[in-house]
Amino acid sequence: MMQKTEVCAKCQAKLPANAKFCSQCGVRVGADRGVRKEEFEISRSQLLSRVRKIIHEGNIRRIVIKQEGKILMEIPLTVAAVGALLAPILAAVGAIAAVVTNCTIQVERVE
Ligand SMILES: [Zn+2]
Repeated sequence: MMQKTEVCAKCQAKLPANAKFCSQCGVRVGADRGVRKEEFEISRSQLLSRVRKIIHEGNIRRIVIKQEGKILMEIPLTVAAVGALLAPILAAVGAIAAVVTNCTIQVERVE
């Protein structure tokens, strides 16, 4: 039986099958594997609280705020970034909420 061996893109360590993280350096394996996109319409009054809630749910890779197909804001989220950047992110989302009526939030969730 043929066995497929994956190696870490960063440190080249051999990875066990279906590994989610490299055991050597901790980098995430297969960044696009298991990413699920969700999209929902939201009104301005709910925007900020909804984004905050989504961030706190964790395992989010990216949040995109759109209006009529146009991207207003893109928030790439890494575990490291969330703590330090939460306040400026929420401030920017608040600024968007002040000028839009309805918008769409697209969430990329990591399984
Ligand atoms: Zn590695």
